[in-house]
Amino acid sequence: MTTPTARNFIDGQWVDPGNTIDDTDPGNGEVIGRLARSGAAEVDAAVQAARRAASGWADLAASARARVLREAADHLEASTDDWGRLMTREMGKPLTEARVESARAAAILRFFAGEAHRPFGQQYASDQAQTWLFTRRSPVGVIGIITPWNFPAAIPTWKLAPALIFGNTAVLKLADDAALTGLRLIEALDKAGIPPGVINVVIGRGTEVGAAMVEHDGVDAISFTGSTETGRGILEKASRSAKRVQLEMGGHNPVIVRSDAALDSAVAAVALGAFASAGQKCTATRRVYVARDLYDSFTEKLVVKASGMNVGYGLDESTEMGPLVNEVQLTGVLEALERAEKQGKLHCGGKRLTEGEYAKGCYMGPAVFTDLPHDSEFACEEIFGPNVAVWPVDDDEEAIERANATSYDLSAAIFTRDLDSAKKFIEQVKAGIVHVNSQTAGAEVHVPFGGLSGSGYGPHEQGRAAIEFYTQTKTIYLDPA
Ligand code: NAD
Repeated sequence: MTTPTARNFIDGQWVDPGNTIDDTDPGNGEVIGRLARSGAAEVDAAVQAARRAASGWADLAASARARVLREAADHLEASTDDWGRLMTREMGKPLTEARVESARAAAILRFFAGEAHRPFGQQYASDQAQTWLFTRRSPVGVIGIITPWNFPAAIPTWKLAPALIFGNTAVLKLADDAALTGLRLIEALDKAGIPPGVINVVIGRGTEVGAAMVEHDGVDAISFTGSTETGRGILEKASRSAKRVQLEMGGHNPVIVRSDAALDSAVAAVALGAFASAGQKCTATRRVYVARDLYDSFTEKLVVKASGMNVGYGLDESTEMGPLVNEVQLTGVLEALERAEKQGKLHCGGKRLTEGEYAKGCYMGPAVFTDLPHDSEFACEEIFGPNVAVWPVDDDEEAIERANATSYDLSAAIFTRDLDSAKKFIEQVKAGIVHVNSQTAGAEVHVPFGGLSGSGYGPHEQGRAAIEFYTQTKTIYLDPA
């Protein structure tokens, strides 16, 4: 069997790469493909193609653009299992999660196809009786899209689909650790007949390909998802040429468990939020503040749950937690947890698994900490792995103050049966997404998604909110001659 190569897609052509590097399965170390290495020249060719295609695509009826999205969704739905398997092999998440994600990507395409038949502007009553006063949304132009590896099907889709339906063209840079997975979306759009140049993909390092996109004068806007550090660097560079910028960045998501919570559901939701996708979710649960009277029993149950998780190869149906995405990521997480262990108590996991089949991949046990200082690295910085810490709190005020104490404000959850407490939490917690009695992760396709302060910048993504970033508004005064 030949190994597939993640190639560039420029001006409607799949371009054979010069240099390539290995694409490795983090679950067993097997080389499953090759990844093109590109640079500024390929980015320039992609941007030029996107500029040439811009007016033709923008001038189509929105329903014609929607047809392409729907047909691509048909292709993807016919192969969600196969797509999920590729995702699992490329970046490690268990097949059960990967299947859900690939189905979700198709659902995102269908939602945005529906935007063709929803309003693109608003009409207002003018102060002048004869005047029709309204707004009209038009495309921004060429969108540069930079995506991470942790949701390699869903994130490229939730950026590309709104960019396309609102009439923009795009240059996409997929993350190395899951580029083959992301390219399935492009193949589906290609099969669905998207015109040449409307979407272009360049595969290569972030510091070369990503940076060249951010600095290119032919790119009008950058939509980025990734770490806060990279996002801030992009904002600085992109603002030099006054580009429109949307950043979805890291998270450090808190959960509050009140005395009146349904304890077992809170434990289950925290375990799911902390350890699904091996904790490699921006919305993963990292900090849990538990009412003092429940603290011991909550911690004990969480440790039992974490210790009993079936860590294994993602394609095994019984696996509950797969490997981390690569050696570098695993080493970084383990080192950070070693530092945390010096400051607090590690109850389980947190170490590399090396016995038997584990030796071939990037496996570690899910970690639960207690007794960490509130100003420790763990309590303040995102450690992007399967790790969570628990602290006792004395009342709601303390719990909310602690929950709000980091510079990330993405997602937050409370477990309670008390309506007043839930309402107070919704009003006071600093987060772009709030859950009451459900885990911190999760995003439905038709509603806004995004963080505040250190977690997000610019308009939110997904749902109808996406129109804000991917269009510009004209206000029109129409008077009779
Ligand atoms: P990352 O910041 O390392 O990389 C993200 C993307 O940016 C990759 O495609 C990378 O190649 C590219 N990149 C790297 N350096 C660049 C540069 N100098 N210029 C332009 N592009 C560059 O992040 P990651 O490790 O791929 O993903 C994990 C991070 O993403 C975590 O912090 C996680 O919380 C965050 N994330 C956030 C959300 C959200 O919606 N808020 C969703 C998923 C992941």
